[in-house]
Amino acid sequence: MRLEQVGDEAALEEWRTQVLGRSGELTQVLRGIGGMEPDERRAVGQAANVAKQELEAALDARSEQLSRAALEREAADGLDVTLPGRPRRPGRLHPVTRTLREILDIFGRMGFAAIEGPEVEHDEYNFGRLRIPEHHPARDMWDTFWFDEEIDGATPLLLRTHTSPMQIRFIEQHDPPVRIVVPGRCYRYEATDATHEWMMQQVEVLAIDEGISVADLKGTLQEFARQMFGPERRVLLRNSYFPFVEPGVELAVDCFSCPGDDPRCPVCRGSGWLEIMGAGMVHPEIIAAAGFDPERYTGFAAGMGVERITMLKYGIEDIRNFYANDLRFLRQF
Ligand SMILES: [Zn+2]
Repeated sequence: MRLEQVGDEAALEEWRTQVLGRSGELTQVLRGIGGMEPDERRAVGQAANVAKQELEAALDARSEQLSRAALEREAADGLDVTLPGRPRRPGRLHPVTRTLREILDIFGRMGFAAIEGPEVEHDEYNFGRLRIPEHHPARDMWDTFWFDEEIDGATPLLLRTHTSPMQIRFIEQHDPPVRIVVPGRCYRYEATDATHEWMMQQVEVLAIDEGISVADLKGTLQEFARQMFGPERRVLLRNSYFPFVEPGVELAVDCFSCPGDDPRCPVCRGSGWLEIMGAGMVHPEIIAAAGFDPERYTGFAAGMGVERITMLKYGIEDIRNFYANDLRFLRQF
């Protein structure tokens, strides 16, 4: 077979074996040299070596020609295999997921078990049993999405506005001591802006046992704030109101971005304090409704927005970034 007639890689390899291979034609010639006279041996040897080099060069040239022709055929089909490959970027956790895991880790180390609950909830659990009856003004803060269907005899269904309903569901099924955190998505019928989304993640904290006091509430949340925002953090409890706790507080940490009095500080805007969650002592009526003696058992509850904690921690100014699916934002974490 002549080299010019070789049409593809397989045929080229066949030609190489036939001519230059271990038992190829040229190799046979070279093997025959041993039995020749010295003068003849030198002349034939030199000629054979020149021939070998020329054949190898011709082989390389033909191989090059064949692969260029293959590329041209593929380019004609619209495929450019000479383009560099596209690098595959490794995936990473969403910043909210990262913060959520961090929160659950911190409470986990303090002995709190993480449990989850339904996102579609009964009015009774989302509001009623948390001491927010119909027409209670607190319902205005927590407007949500309602379902049309009614299930026989039960209260209407809605998308839960907080993970607090799991406080009730859990203590209906479990005796104290209770130490749980409840992560999950919550919904609000809300016009969105830089600090409001219609869907967000919350973590509810609940501890019920004999002899739990405000000191336990403060100590636990202070330890959480220090692990989350740094060991130097101080916390501040301010009076607040939530229908299912008594007394109710807002928990704030001191600003970690400025000395506390810089009006240009993007994190605290000069106030020096950042509110990170609402909390309080579990209302005695809630403990009694679950069948436990509120004189004997007391507890505390707290609820925090995971997006808010993430925004504070990383200096993010618009909550809508989290769910806009813009990779330029997400790749920064
Ligand atoms: Zn500040």
